Amino acid sequence: MRVEVDSSKCQGHNRCMIFAPDVFEVDDYGFATVRADGEIPPEQIEAVKHAVVNCPELAIIVRED
Ligand code: SF4
Repeated sequence: MRVEVDSSKCQGHNRCMIFAPDVFEVDDYGFATVRADGEIPPEQIEAVKHAVVNCPELAIIVRED
């Protein structure tokens, strides 16, 4: 599974990093990007799912590869 942030939707709420700090990082304004290459480690899948449902902008995209 892979995850990415749609930068055109992200509004910098910083909520994704609260739920999955090992997967997301944010800049000084709270706008998120995905750490590393976007591959979700198995132990982070639940955290990413929490981030997805808590992103108010629906900016987090998870793809099954
Ligand atoms: S919660 Fe969503 S909108 Fe907010 S910073 Fe994270 S990806 Fe962006």
